[in-house]
Amino acid sequence: MVRRTYDKQRAEEYEHLLPEFYPVKLIGAFISLDFVSGCSFNCSFCISKRHPSREELYQEGLLLDNRVSSGKMLSWLRSMPSYHAGVQVRIGHDTDAGLEFEKSSKLIEMADPGRSIVYLTRKPLTAPEVEFFRTYRRNLLLKLTATPRSKSLNVTRNPMNLVRSAEPLDSRMLYWVLGPLAADSYGDAVEIIESLPAGSSLFLKPLNCEGLPHLANVKPLSRELIAHLEDLALKRGHVVTEWFCRSGLARIDRGFFDVDKITAQKDPAKRERELSYCTACSSNGLCHGELDEPSLRQALVMSLAELGLTLSKEPHRTGPRSFEVAVDEPASRGEETYLNNSLSQAVSITLTTREKGRSQGGSFCNVDREVLKRWYENGFFPVTELNTVAEYVLRDIRRLFTSNGSSPVHLSRCSIVKDQGICA
Ligand code: SF4
Repeated sequence: MVRRTYDKQRAEEYEHLLPEFYPVKLIGAFISLDFVSGCSFNCSFCISKRHPSREELYQEGLLLDNRVSSGKMLSWLRSMPSYHAGVQVRIGHDTDAGLEFEKSSKLIEMADPGRSIVYLTRKPLTAPEVEFFRTYRRNLLLKLTATPRSKSLNVTRNPMNLVRSAEPLDSRMLYWVLGPLAADSYGDAVEIIESLPAGSSLFLKPLNCEGLPHLANVKPLSRELIAHLEDLALKRGHVVTEWFCRSGLARIDRGFFDVDKITAQKDPAKRERELSYCTACSSNGLCHGELDEPSLRQALVMSLAELGLTLSKEPHRTGPRSFEVAVDEPASRGEETYLNNSLSQAVSITLTTREKGRSQGGSFCNVDREVLKRWYENGFFPVTELNTVAEYVLRDIRRLFTSNGSSPVHLSRCSIVKDQGICA
């Protein structure tokens, strides 16, 4: 990593919002990238809308090109130690990758074949997309979301359009998410399951209304009916799994850092099923083999020093492949992601001072300012360049949401949100 001096000269007015509009983010488990801000779908259950500074952009169905080329995106990736360590790249984190296909496909072609890329879309594939994705790429996984029609969720598009459009593609490159599943989603969910080719990997996604108060009265699909769908999928020969490591990382011969989440599942039937997938997986030895703890501890100390983090006590092993690491400085989930991939063994690291994640009731985007400063100084993340892109995007948004070209209307309330940072 190349040390630099942090440039504090930023537009004050925007500073607290900038990371939310970075085209590249280092988040829990991924490097996420997007070539556009906003989305034209306005799904009622969209989690991207949970962030107050983006809500209106998504509600209006607006899409802003962030002026970043595929080549520039790749040069940022290649400047990041996380990319070199093998952190999975995720396209379409804040929007739908299908809305940024042109630049994304160029990036996929240029990216190093040893880096796993996940492409997230719910949009039926167009002819050019099918043409591009019918080439089998070992490092590419399409995570396709088929949402059953539902009055209560205001979903009117037929999910079968997506299912049919993906028929020409190699199913090894596909992982299906069926959901979110509301009480009135059952019929379409059955049709999707029955239409996918046997052996498809899929996840039945329950409805999650957290942070979406307008959905508070929507009834989720009952556990019993989700269990029926699961049985049906298994009978059709599908792989029903919450994890897509087998379809993504394992295809480029890497292990899964969060394997303890699979082995520690409480539901014995589900655990047994997931472990049977592990047994059949080519990365089984990497995920379930013996851990070389002394060399892991040595590598951990070196990586922490590179990050500028100081160990405050000896790392504590919390599971077969999990460690809690106490450090003095504020840290980030993005740094955990880096460590999970840089230590040459499949392990999960938790840093005691990292920001809270969504599952802990914390803010969705709250990386500490000191962390960003350290990332810049360490050459760990191209903070200043990303700030510049985000400033342009925010200016565009301000212009769009300005009444008669003068006073800001919608986004004015967001300027008082001070605790936002990189999506965690
Ligand atoms: S062995 Fe299991 S945990 Fe590891 S990549 Fe394969 S399915 Fe995932």
